[in-house]
Amino acid sequence: MHFTGTVYRNPYWPTWPLLEITQGCTHNSCKFCTMYKDIHFRLSPLEWIEEDLKELAVTDPDARTIQLLSANPFALSYDKLVPIMEMINKYLPKMEVIYAAGRVSDVRNKSVEELKKLKDMGLKEITLGVESGDDWTLDRINKGYHASDILTQCHKLEEAGIEYWMTFLGGVAGREHSREHAINSAKIFSQCKPLLVGTSSLTLFPGTPLLEEAERGEFKPLTEKELLEELKLFVENLECDCIFNTHHTVLANFSGPNFLARKANIISQLDFMIKHGDESRMQAFRRNKRTL
Ligand code: SF4
Repeated sequence: MHFTGTVYRNPYWPTWPLLEITQGCTHNSCKFCTMYKDIHFRLSPLEWIEEDLKELAVTDPDARTIQLLSANPFALSYDKLVPIMEMINKYLPKMEVIYAAGRVSDVRNKSVEELKKLKDMGLKEITLGVESGDDWTLDRINKGYHASDILTQCHKLEEAGIEYWMTFLGGVAGREHSREHAINSAKIFSQCKPLLVGTSSLTLFPGTPLLEEAERGEFKPLTEKELLEELKLFVENLECDCIFNTHHTVLANFSGPNFLARKANIISQLDFMIKHGDESRMQAFRRNKRTL
């Protein structure tokens, strides 16, 4: 199998085989991220992809699901994705769900009709690393799109019947704009119909512009308890009924289906943690984080 640079396996689908069809990230400029800094985005050579599929046809011939790599393979145009989808279905004929991560802006270059055809070929689920629905915050972290783009592109996915995940990244607006980040993100997410909302929280990694800004005093990170306060505000304002997950950078596990039925319970657990949590212990936990 060909794997280049960082390999990020979606932790919620640990049994899915991985297939690298692109390398790196088209954007590579979010101020909190270093995951693909060392590598330029490119489409993997089609002969590599075919070699890997031939290998999977031997090792995993009954595969019904697969995750495409790398950061945002969904950035490829419809015309580039179609031959890859065809190859996957040829070598893995029992394939049911092809999953990929993408940026909100990756949906722009595909019409609803094209999205429907990709879905028919198996591309039924994508994760959008949305991070925020607040325009000030999106500009601050150099995300490269705005809240109106989130709504437009997510509604296209809904029309095409492609399921999608949305992520919220706590702490990226700093203290200065935390409240607006939480409330406006929840408002935008609530106007969409994600299968899953995943929440994570900011760790300032070496080499990121946001850490450099923090060291110069230009970015004021939230404390662990403030991150929990911000998450609580996001949860209070989130109205879409979805699977709700907290990723490994959130110091509690609120993951599970039926968000709206569980919302009051999540809020009361957050209240408890805010009141009784040990800030220094939570900071020690954060210092051990190595990836987003
Ligand atoms: S957060 Fe995602 S879109 Fe942004 S630079 Fe990192 S991999 Fe690329």
